[in-house]
Amino acid sequence: MARAGAAYYAARDPFHDFATSPELSQAFGECLGLWAAVTWQAMGRPDPVLLVECGPGRGSLMADALRAIDEMMPDFRAALRVHLVETSPRLREAQALRLGDAAITWHEDITTLPTAPMIMLANEFLDALPIRQFIRRGAIWYERFVADGMFIEMPSDAVLQEEAPEGAIKEVNEAALDFAAWLGRWVTLHGGAALLIDYGPGQTGFGDSLQAIRAGQPIDPLTSPGQVDITAHVDFAALAAAAGAAGAVTHGPLPQGVFLQRLGFMTRAAMLARLAPASAQAQLAAAHRLTAPEAMGRLFKALAVCDPRLLILAGFEAA
Ligand code: SAH
Repeated sequence: MARAGAAYYAARDPFHDFATSPELSQAFGECLGLWAAVTWQAMGRPDPVLLVECGPGRGSLMADALRAIDEMMPDFRAALRVHLVETSPRLREAQALRLGDAAITWHEDITTLPTAPMIMLANEFLDALPIRQFIRRGAIWYERFVADGMFIEMPSDAVLQEEAPEGAIKEVNEAALDFAAWLGRWVTLHGGAALLIDYGPGQTGFGDSLQAIRAGQPIDPLTSPGQVDITAHVDFAALAAAAGAAGAVTHGPLPQGVFLQRLGFMTRAAMLARLAPASAQAQLAAAHRLTAPEAMGRLFKALAVCDPRLLILAGFEAA
């Protein structure tokens, strides 16, 4: 999954295959930018502060966020340093183009970020990290591997939970768990907060969520590795536990629809529709898609990992 994902993002424009929230509506990045600005104030306005995005895709979220920050809170714009964590050279180019003359530092991974208070945004980043799958057979777990283009199973000595029905599939995303633990330590030591938006159930459970998409259609993940988008559900409960064990406070996961509405997303989308009547219909349809429970409003969720000294976090107040 790791190699297929890296090959895919390196060689193709993933946005032919699927549409993400920042590509559907500029109000998404604008609201997240203002969330970052309010969070910066709650942190005591540190200067400098890192504004980090993991897996920034085409750079749209960051471009929309910076534009909103520029307009609404120029002090924050002056204090922030943009750092993008992106492995794909092709997408780095797209990000540089999109972000124009903003000063940006790119990183292969989070380990090279400078030490400073941080506000992090990540949308549909964790779902791209590789999972391992285990299957319950009798009293033990088997691990699923790929060999000769097929799934095979091998007995495993992985220590997983003991009670599981026959044939149950357990997914473990070690890269995402390590990331959450790192984040938990970082914000506790240096200050800050991270907003992780992705899709998956609220509770840890069993099931095969590995999926591949080509041109908006589901496709067998083994058919064309490296040429299709391959992802898995994010286990928010496990991420929150990993970040919490590292010292951080977590909020959520909150359904994306609820979170966005609390940030004033619908008001902003309606304003954009009024400002540009020609695209009003598309604006409102996108806003509906991002927030409606039967579309992306419920399956997508927002989880915040933050410094325990940060008492209130916009959007999560009543959660
Ligand atoms: N956040 C964007 C893009 C989501 S697609 C949006 O919402 O539109 C996933 C992004 O994560 C791509 O930019 C991809 O290149 C990047 N990515 C995938 N695996 C990565 C890894 N291990 N490290 C850093 N970036 C990664």
